[in-house]
Amino acid sequence: MQLDIDRLVAYFGGVNALAEALKQHDPENAATTAAIYKWRTRGSLPLAQLQKLTALAEAQGRPLDLNAFLQKNESLERTEMTQTNRVIIFDTTMRDGEQSPGASMTKEEKIRIARQLEKMGVDVIEAGFAAASPGDFESVNAIAKIITKSTVCSLARAVENDVRKAGEAVSPAPKKRIHTFIATSPIHMEHKLKMKPQQVIDAAVKAVKIAKEYTDDVEFSAEDAVRSDLDFLAKIFTAVIEAGATTINIPDTVGYSIPSVWYERISNIIKSVPNGDKVVWSTHCHNDLGMAVANSLAAVQAGVRQVECTINGLGERAGNASLEEIVMALKVRHDLFGLETGIDTTQIVPVSKLVSTITGYPIQPNKAVVGANAFAHESGIHQDGVLKHPETYEIMTAESVGWSTNRLTLGKLSGRNAFKTKLADLGIELESEEALNAAFARFKELADKKREIFDEDLHALVSDEMGSLNTESYKFISQKISTETGEEPRANIVFSIRGEEKHATATGSGPVDAIFKAIESVAQSGATLQIYSVNAVTQGTESQGETSVRLQRGDRVVNGQGADTDVLVATAKAYLSALSKLEFGQAKPKAQGRGMI
Ligand SMILES: [Zn+2]
Repeated sequence: MQLDIDRLVAYFGGVNALAEALKQHDPENAATTAAIYKWRTRGSLPLAQLQKLTALAEAQGRPLDLNAFLQKNESLERTEMTQTNRVIIFDTTMRDGEQSPGASMTKEEKIRIARQLEKMGVDVIEAGFAAASPGDFESVNAIAKIITKSTVCSLARAVENDVRKAGEAVSPAPKKRIHTFIATSPIHMEHKLKMKPQQVIDAAVKAVKIAKEYTDDVEFSAEDAVRSDLDFLAKIFTAVIEAGATTINIPDTVGYSIPSVWYERISNIIKSVPNGDKVVWSTHCHNDLGMAVANSLAAVQAGVRQVECTINGLGERAGNASLEEIVMALKVRHDLFGLETGIDTTQIVPVSKLVSTITGYPIQPNKAVVGANAFAHESGIHQDGVLKHPETYEIMTAESVGWSTNRLTLGKLSGRNAFKTKLADLGIELESEEALNAAFARFKELADKKREIFDEDLHALVSDEMGSLNTESYKFISQKISTETGEEPRANIVFSIRGEEKHATATGSGPVDAIFKAIESVAQSGATLQIYSVNAVTQGTESQGETSVRLQRGDRVVNGQGADTDVLVATAKAYLSALSKLEFGQAKPKAQGRGMI
């Protein structure tokens, strides 16, 4: 059993307070803040130091019980979820996050994300909205079959068919939840649902009762709770709890609240529901005013013990509350919240990168926790401070959120079995031998160009490979690009559509423009390019470039991805991948109109 150094240090009031106390207690043998900081990064401390802490605690008149600081056994902790000290992390990247334009994911991609979320310790995975389409049902069902530690959840409107579909989809999961919702604001009830308030309550109660036929774990959400009447909310919540709901979610669907108001509203609701002590209260905040995380934390202070959030803050419109920011705020400011989550924070950056690769949504460099600049100290004064005492300017370490976990994965000499094992480790299971062989060939090719292959490289490679496996899709074959100062760039590209080889040539204002024009001259998709971005997968000039292309045609929006050490090849691949999704992919029903929290 390992000691939880963070909590141990917090017991003494934080790093600075501890260093000071040690100095007062025994000036000769005191530990510096830098040393204490190191214990935290390493997750251990030398025995001699531990003895000093024990002596210090005794001198302070509050002897140390080391058992209280042991790292909690994960499985034990999961079952001992108490309302009082534990915040349940409910991830909705694959449901709410997927509603971001063009972020729709295939079943295989969702399975990869689900595996990583489970590894990270997410309590509840909202895998989708089973009744939305046969594809959604299949994805939720596939995830329910493979996830064993986390609870697998499906969203459902408060109508019988939705709830039954959700129930069937999650049925294989050892831990399953149905999340049903209905709008409760006057404007939604009158204009969208065209129902009287009592009818809305009846529908909600009926939905919860049907859900109970499938699982004991039933969540109810009041859509547009932020604009709903408080008395009505209390009435409907009391009724659904009576009917068996075990979690009550209060969403800010339109991202309209501010923290002080949200705190007060949530406190009032919890107080006004007589049987409210029987359930876990939850919140789900949108980021339209940039306050999703702040509002979620205010709700936690007001008593909610479940937060619904997404990786990288993905979600409808301006997005949802970001999982990584909430988890790190609860951890770093443990002194304020005094609450735990079950998240292994060292998995945060790998999961964030995976979601970015799969959805084609790059992470802004100044994004908290997972942005490339989040731990970079540019200013000379800061750098000096950080080198002397990391605590000076860093409130958390890069290692604690997984920045250094991109361990060297494989090298040029790694064999097919090692490659397969590593993929399984990363939650990637290729469906056929053919797919595995193709991916392995790509890996060998990449290993020739790039000495070190990291986890991120494998994710990018597999995403790229899976995109081109569909036999009906557009596939990249080869290209020749000529650019010279003073000359117009020209692209000669060979690709295939449904297996038929095509040759295309075009000039453009730059090589990327020439590539897109060449492909379009044959494909004639009629789509407009919305976003084109290039990111380095790992550090160094020999890194793979990961490109993302967003195309729109009518109301369909798709993101295509490509990865290669040659960014122009990656660019052509991304464009072809977007075309494949546009032409052959499943159309997602639009979120609007079907109601959503
Ligand atoms: Zn939402």
